[in-house]
Amino acid sequence: MILDDIRIVLVNTSHSGNIGSAARAMKTMGLSKLYLVDPACEVDSHASALAAGASDVLGNAVIVDTVADAIADCALTIGTSARSRTLSWPMVEPRECGEKLVDEAVNGPVALVFGRENSGLTNEELQLCNYHVCIPANPEYSSLNLAMAVQTLCYETRMAFLNQQPKKVVEEDETVYPSSKQTELFYDHLEETLHNTGFIIKQHPGLVMTKLRRLFNRARPEDAEMNILRGILTSINKSIK
Ligand code: SAH
Repeated sequence: MILDDIRIVLVNTSHSGNIGSAARAMKTMGLSKLYLVDPACEVDSHASALAAGASDVLGNAVIVDTVADAIADCALTIGTSARSRTLSWPMVEPRECGEKLVDEAVNGPVALVFGRENSGLTNEELQLCNYHVCIPANPEYSSLNLAMAVQTLCYETRMAFLNQQPKKVVEEDETVYPSSKQTELFYDHLEETLHNTGFIIKQHPGLVMTKLRRLFNRARPEDAEMNILRGILTSINKSIK
């Protein structure tokens, strides 16, 4: 079931009521996989009260330490943001966000990541995402309550799910993208190689890795292409030894 592979990730949430309300927002739209990254509050009776009939979603929530842990096995991650950031990143509209999540959930887990009530997601967390989505709210007051943002984007996901075209009988082969974990291992390998060649100086790394992340994220290498890149890095490291 497609909707079961669409995961909602809440980062460092400080109000338990928001966690409960987010669970309810999810269940009304048919979503059930809730991940809580290092919640800053207890999942208490207040959360259950606001979850109402969605206490099962709350009860099954997976608690992890970092965003990277929450999305490790996901091949597509979309991060939410109430405003555009200094570092530009590929953006999608809420409607396209729903369509992408539904399209790619056919191949395995995908994630939609929500930030802290007071400060959103950090730049580092946003850089773990393939795309960013912003609900085009009133520019003078664009920050929605966390659970309401969850509701809005889960609604778009449901609309995309309901509008899905029946799949063609002869499936064209689907593109396979690397998981977030595999992509992070590639960045580690790349950084290590660029240290070894002397391109990046450890004491003054600058913004090179951020810019390279942006480049590779934009290109979105497929699984097989990433294997080639890893092979190239291995050959460089061998030849400089
Ligand atoms: N002051 C914070 C706002 C956080 S609102 C900031 O500027 O980033 C809490 C969370 O709700 C955000 O991290 C995001 O996940 C979601 N959210 C709120 N408004 C949103 C919007 N207009 N578009 C997308 N997500 C939004």
